[in-house]
Amino acid sequence: MEHQQKQGTQEPPVAHDKINIGLPRLTKTQWSAIFVGLLFVGSSAGFAFLSSPSSQTGSSSPAPAISGIQCQSMEGTALHIHPRLEILRGNSAVKVPAGIGIPSGKGCMYWLHTHDTSGTIHVESPVQRTFTLGEFLDIWDATIGANPIGGANVTVHVDGRTYDGDYRQIVFEDGKSILVEIA
Ligand SMILES: [Zn+2]
Repeated sequence: MEHQQKQGTQEPPVAHDKINIGLPRLTKTQWSAIFVGLLFVGSSAGFAFLSSPSSQTGSSSPAPAISGIQCQSMEGTALHIHPRLEILRGNSAVKVPAGIGIPSGKGCMYWLHTHDTSGTIHVESPVQRTFTLGEFLDIWDATIGANPIGGANVTVHVDGRTYDGDYRQIVFEDGKSILVEIA
């Protein structure tokens, strides 16, 4: 998408309120038939869209990519690692939900996802690149609902050591342990 062509398509201004489309006089039954016909065409188009197979490139991915992370059917992985995420609010554990990155009814998984509530994050990607906690949290928001991490009083530990930077920038590595404490 580096090639953004912005052609100045100039359409003549249309005064919608002055268009006389000259509707023929139809009976109520005829209008109903037209309405049902339009419904049928609309639902057929919708079905065709939903049932279209997703391509390997993901160009017709059924769920939109998030930070370049696509929702795909997971065939062939170049990178497969498992960082761990643990969240504490006060002294009580906040479960990391199962199904993050697995939108229901889409038949695909984002490259970052969870299968259970153990806190294990599955990074399964067909391309070699870095993935961050922030990207995972964005996918959490998009597929489950608002993630609980935020606010001023967030302390993060990575492999037992306090992390001082922006926790969204923490890069996932296999076996890396991320502990988020929310005061
Ligand atoms: Zn995995």
